[in-house]
Amino acid sequence: MTIFASRRGLLKLGGAASLGLVANPAVAAPSTERKLGYAIVGLGQYADVILPRFAECRYSRVTALVSGSMEKARRYAARYDVAEAGLYTYDTFDTIRDNPDVDIVYVILPNGMHHEYTLRAAAAGKHVMCEKPMANTAAEAQAMIAACRAADRKLMIGYRCHFEANNREAMRIVREGELGKARIVTAEHGFNIGDPTQWRLNRALAGGGSLMDIGIYSLQAARYLTGEEPVEVSAVESTDRSDIRFKEVEDTINFQLKFASGVVANCVSTYGSGHNRYRVVGTEGWLDAEAATGYGGNRLRLRRNGQTADHPAPDLPVNQFSGMLDHLSQCVMTDSQPIVAGEEGLRDMKIIEAIYLAAREGRTVRL
Ligand code: NAD
Repeated sequence: MTIFASRRGLLKLGGAASLGLVANPAVAAPSTERKLGYAIVGLGQYADVILPRFAECRYSRVTALVSGSMEKARRYAARYDVAEAGLYTYDTFDTIRDNPDVDIVYVILPNGMHHEYTLRAAAAGKHVMCEKPMANTAAEAQAMIAACRAADRKLMIGYRCHFEANNREAMRIVREGELGKARIVTAEHGFNIGDPTQWRLNRALAGGGSLMDIGIYSLQAARYLTGEEPVEVSAVESTDRSDIRFKEVEDTINFQLKFASGVVANCVSTYGSGHNRYRVVGTEGWLDAEAATGYGGNRLRLRRNGQTADHPAPDLPVNQFSGMLDHLSQCVMTDSQPIVAGEEGLRDMKIIEAIYLAAREGRTVRL
């Protein structure tokens, strides 16, 4: 996860951004203006966020839709200008191998289906964008990486914050030492979950509770802000099992990560109350982001040299969603590794499993 490997890398980022290219110093601009074709698998709430963003993409377009209902697929096809030949059900999905207009399959299904559809996409010869969390387990994540590698296809996880201006600026500030030495990270993510019948509360489909769905943003933030990997985790779970929503998965699981440099992250993950914030305190100042990881309207404040002020991040050429979609297209066209490849999803899955173990056994787990 070395986005900001050096000051020189940063200068390259500035140059790429001013040229209107995707915000990633590691990937050269493709030599053509060709747009790669995406198949969207699962037409739920998040697909509704992603689909309109293709309009701002330079290297990506939608060429196929996969849904349980052809009637629904046709409705979406009319809205996003997808040909009838690009419409599939889950049963006909494997025939997507015969569709040359599809380069990338984007899996936006419940977590418990990510593994199966990534394997089927790779077997169909397609590159894969897979939503977070990557899978239900680290073992599944490993199998997904192996399948894509064996098929010589790219695998990227939909970690959109790596393409969002404020988050990139926060990473730069912390990693370049502008707050002095980073000491304490606090990251909070949560919401009060509603409908008890939804898949997010079903263990087989969700893999777990708040940690898999929303707490993963706290984990990601602690890792991408510091640019370090945790060496120890501890955790406390608090779930009211008499609440009908939490028969199968956890509500709140707060965890602490200790990194090799000594920086400690205190992280909140909950399905009981609304949180979207992080804060990094260093020896020379702090940064505070709230909202931190939203779809829009994120805000950053900084304290340095005894002054506290809003800190608007430099603009990126495109919004986080289009930047993310184009990043994978560029990686495919230039045969480069995505900055948030399958290996990045696997790292989170391993830490998530350690967090659950630490909470279950009431002990510190070494990674
Ligand atoms: P959703 O419930 O709105 O959509 C899921 C889709 O999968 C629906 O179209 C549903 O019909 C389909 N589906 C197929 N088989 C299903 C089954 N057996 N049970 C339930 N649904 C089934 O969910 P969503 O909010 O769109 O989440 C989908 C994925 O996207 C999840 O992995 C989630 O974590 C991820 N997500 C990511 C972000 C982000 O910001 N990166 C935001 C929201 C969701």
